[in-house]
Amino acid sequence: MNDNQLLLKVRDLKTYFFLEEGTVHAIDGADFDIRRGEAVGVVGESGCGKSVTGQSILRIVPNPGEVVEGEITFYRYEKRDDGTEVQEVVDLTALDPRGDEIRSIRGGEISMVFQEPMTSLSPVHTMGQQIMEAIILHQKVDEDEARRRAIEMLRRVGMPQPESTVDSYPHQLSGGMRQRGMIAMALSCSPSLLIADEPTTALDVTTEAQILQLMRDLQQDLGMAIMFITHDLGVIAEMTSRVVVMYMGKVVEGADVDTLFYDPKHPYTRALLNSIPRLGHDKSERLESIKGVVPDPYNLPPGCPFHPRCASFMPGVCNVEEVPNFVIEPGHTARCFLYAD
Ligand code: SF4
Repeated sequence: MNDNQLLLKVRDLKTYFFLEEGTVHAIDGADFDIRRGEAVGVVGESGCGKSVTGQSILRIVPNPGEVVEGEITFYRYEKRDDGTEVQEVVDLTALDPRGDEIRSIRGGEISMVFQEPMTSLSPVHTMGQQIMEAIILHQKVDEDEARRRAIEMLRRVGMPQPESTVDSYPHQLSGGMRQRGMIAMALSCSPSLLIADEPTTALDVTTEAQILQLMRDLQQDLGMAIMFITHDLGVIAEMTSRVVVMYMGKVVEGADVDTLFYDPKHPYTRALLNSIPRLGHDKSERLESIKGVVPDPYNLPPGCPFHPRCASFMPGVCNVEEVPNFVIEPGHTARCFLYAD
């Protein structure tokens, strides 16, 4: 496998929600790439559009939301009998969200795990039935084989006594066990991309550490890519090699994880990093909070949406013009007029 092979390319993605009160531009120009086997973090405050990005890729944006513009290209790689690989390009935005092709990709080649497993697990089916359903749908095996694979997957994600928990209902399991069950379900068809949307936010610290370790091990063992959606910069630092920062539906900065933490360029990224404690932080010094409040999504400020909160605001420029995405160096971009030259 060539590490630099693209798996997903997102360009100028726009997903809007058409509500009675007005239109919410949940994603308003997102650009990023994910390569095979790579862990990419998507970070930002609540409501910045990061979860809708995952839903847009899988075409599961809830009503009244819609992908209105942009490109989401998925690259599928298939091994031939002679050992060579062929690449197939799929335009996910062109697929019918209820059609057969996206259904075979969803849960098969691209899977998702959510913050709260109870919202995505069926309460009236056992863990085993739910994992087996995914296996039978995507891998065309009989029930006995699907059950064997479900138990094996549960064992792999560290579920205690998988031979018996396979017949447990979600409400009979703890939060950490349910999250392991959902990861087992998501990974049962060996996806090439796992979208993990705040998968550990609802868990206690010990279980969170176990689940993050598990995901890291599985990513390495299975060679899959992970898109890690979180508000937690600690999780980003631990889990990912590249990061995109989102603010009010836009990707405002993209860089490899070291560059982002040690040489952030966008004032929003700098403010985010200044608001968390760092190693060596003097406890007597107060952490900075980001000044101002997140703007009203129905009434976004003109120009750069961060300008009312920005310490580097340039009147007559930042509040007037749309900000393009500037390339600072290969692999590092920032949507900020400070880098216009
Ligand atoms: Fe601040 Fe202007 Fe850059 Fe926006 S474009 S982040 S307001 S300096």
